[in-house]
Amino acid sequence: MTETPMTETPCLPDPIPAEPAARAKTVGVIVGHGKGALQVGGGAPIVVQSMTNTDTADIEATVRQVAALAQQGSELVRITVDRDEAAAAVPHIRDRLAKMGITAPLVGDFHYIGHKLLADHPACAEALDKYRINPGNVGFKDKKDRQFSAIVETAIRHDKTVRIGANWGSLDQELLTTLMDQNAASARPIDAQAVTREALVRSALMSAQMAEDIGLPKNRIILSAKVSAVQGLVSVYRMLAARSDYALHLGLTEAGMGSKGIVASAAALGVLLQDGIGDTIRVSLTPEPNGDRTLEVKVAQEILQTMGFRTFVPLVAACPGCGRTTSTVFQELARDIQEHIRVSMPEWKKTYPGVETLNVAVMGCIVNGPGESKHADIGISLPGTGETPAAPVFIDGKKAMTLRGEGIAGEFKQIVEDYVARRFGGAKAAE
Ligand code: SF4
Repeated sequence: MTETPMTETPCLPDPIPAEPAARAKTVGVIVGHGKGALQVGGGAPIVVQSMTNTDTADIEATVRQVAALAQQGSELVRITVDRDEAAAAVPHIRDRLAKMGITAPLVGDFHYIGHKLLADHPACAEALDKYRINPGNVGFKDKKDRQFSAIVETAIRHDKTVRIGANWGSLDQELLTTLMDQNAASARPIDAQAVTREALVRSALMSAQMAEDIGLPKNRIILSAKVSAVQGLVSVYRMLAARSDYALHLGLTEAGMGSKGIVASAAALGVLLQDGIGDTIRVSLTPEPNGDRTLEVKVAQEILQTMGFRTFVPLVAACPGCGRTTSTVFQELARDIQEHIRVSMPEWKKTYPGVETLNVAVMGCIVNGPGESKHADIGISLPGTGETPAAPVFIDGKKAMTLRGEGIAGEFKQIVEDYVARRFGGAKAAE
């Protein structure tokens, strides 16, 4: 008689972790002083930064834009310091911001004549929290080292941080030529793009070493090496992270406008952040004429939040809609809830600590609606075409009620408000 084999439940495969690689170990750098001081690198949360596009000599306009960027959540703001009038304006900008309670560290962006501007305007050198210099255009030939040293010595004297920011568009041509010549003479030459990436990385690392030799401590140095192509950026930063432990500023330079800039930045930064590389990020979007400069801050925050590194605002998950939901009710509700949260956040942040961790789902029909809604803190599954006109609402994974009729949007907003007050209001009361 043959034995009937027992049915065995197959073992589950080894799990693949749903988390990024451990953050690369970098040296922590303190930027700023007093209330606005923050740490970049050394395991600190990844910092969001941005840059103004006003004429820095226009104090009113620059103060307005720095304030808008900081209020949107930019934790460091960079301003152009390109001439005497701009350098003279910097201390006034700093004072005006302080009076408004804006303490985000200010970074001065210097090219070509940074050594002179910092020497001629000591109040500017003092008012800034960080100097950004580009080793590709700090000076040329015999002046290069002298001018670089002058900026670093000023930073040491004023106890400031320096970002050594190499850039593909202004690469140190002498270094590039030397490496190209070496490559041409080599038995196994590599392609010109790879030589250029190597030159960019070496330019940043050699300048950082030189700054250290002059006396700037490692915990006062941040590095960046930006290029405008996604794969190039990933390659360059992997090289930088493998060869040093300086804190790293990430950004895809000249990312472009609109969805192109957002997608390219998210793709490049996403890969590197997932690798554990990057201590501070900027999304370099070209705004529409008279467009909203703070968009670059929102995008940077969304990259960090969607990847699970930080939380800034409540997330609204919404399905894309399809032929099963042909009415506009679903799109309007998703938009209204997103907008309601955005408008409410400045007040909610003060009244309801932790509210930024809230998850809301707005779904178009029964296919994924109830399932996705159960995963959110609050979710609503609207009726798709041909479904019974009823919208079940799920709170903390359980069906809590069903909404019907014309007033679904208003009622759902009120349910979100009540939930926020109930769940996050207690934290304030308990403080
Ligand atoms: S949840 Fe429904 S409406 Fe939304 S995309 Fe899926 S099937 Fe379409």
